[in-house]
Amino acid sequence: MREPILLTPGPLTTSATVKQAMLRDWGSRDAAFIALNQRIRERLLALAQAADSHVCVPVQGSGTFAVEATIGTLVPGDGRLLVLVNGAYGRRMVRIAEVIGLAVTSLSWPEDETVDAQALNHALAADQAITHVAVVHCETTSGILNPLQDVADVCARHRRSLLIDAMSSFGALPIDAGQTPFAAVMASANKCLEGVPGVGFALIRREALEAAKNNAPSLSLDLYDQWQGLEANGQWRFTPPTHVLAAFDQALDEHAAEGGVAGRGARYRRNHQILVEGMSALGFAMLVPPPLQAPIIVTFLMPADPRFVFAEFYDRLREKGFAIYPGKLTVAASFRIGCIGRIGEAEIRAALAAIGETMREMGVASGAPALRGESERHE
Ligand SMILES: *Cc1c(COP(=O)(O)O)cnc(C)c1O
Repeated sequence: MREPILLTPGPLTTSATVKQAMLRDWGSRDAAFIALNQRIRERLLALAQAADSHVCVPVQGSGTFAVEATIGTLVPGDGRLLVLVNGAYGRRMVRIAEVIGLAVTSLSWPEDETVDAQALNHALAADQAITHVAVVHCETTSGILNPLQDVADVCARHRRSLLIDAMSSFGALPIDAGQTPFAAVMASANKCLEGVPGVGFALIRREALEAAKNNAPSLSLDLYDQWQGLEANGQWRFTPPTHVLAAFDQALDEHAAEGGVAGRGARYRRNHQILVEGMSALGFAMLVPPPLQAPIIVTFLMPADPRFVFAEFYDRLREKGFAIYPGKLTVAASFRIGCIGRIGEAEIRAALAAIGETMREMGVASGAPALRGESERHE
């Protein structure tokens, strides 16, 4: 049976060699496994030019576990978190803080607009109690790219700590610790780094983590403890996801071989360009204006033709070997197609051909959406 091509926000299509790296059992105390972990941690820091200033702390679980662990570890009980929200992942950080019992406020924007550093500037000037700011780099909900540098500059000017959810950008879009000040960047193995799901990590400014002892309201999600354990003997406190880490090590080899962040980003931009051109030719329109769009995942507005029923479109595409993703938006009916994972021009062109064929089968002449106010400007 042919495997599907995953045109989703993750988990994603991985290379055969990444999957093959999992065909071995590792003892968690083996010297070779300890070295593998060390190598992964060093390479992740190097991807953000952060080796001198930050430490890398991996944590078992999906990306959300890493986000929750980082917020819980770094924001002290008497701190206050301000979350910049323009999609589901920003909202999720607010929810995490609420569940932990932290004082949290948010600034919100519609899903097709970026967060605004000027508004952040005013909010920080007005509220001295805010200790930490959290932002999503690429908001995967819509595929929009937030102005990370501006946000980081404002936080630095006000001396507040910045936490960056770079889950869907890390490894493909540059983040340079020397240029973009941050307390923590959070990401996972299974998005732009093209590993398999099961481990997340945070790059945390060393002094911020040193000051975070006993902050975490959780045992297993305490990144200070996790770091201390790894530093002491190279071992994880609790069962490590050994096979996932072996695959991650291989995925990082392949990332380096492709030319690192620049090379990976270039392939995704090409995928994105071909996808957008092909979908536009079929009449589809994008939610996010092109200058704000990240080359990670694209949100398309639902076609106006009543014969376009998304569930049927999805199933027919899936039968042809392509998995796309429903929309998660509140502002408009939509669906998403990802540009990331071990896919290239051939896979994107094949997906476009399958989409065209599916539209013909369904009797849908055009993917054009109903004109809703301003949406035509993004076509
Ligand atoms: C994927 C993703 C996450 C984490 O999601 P999980 O399902 O827990 O892996 C967090 N933030 C963003 C922006 C993401 O794209």
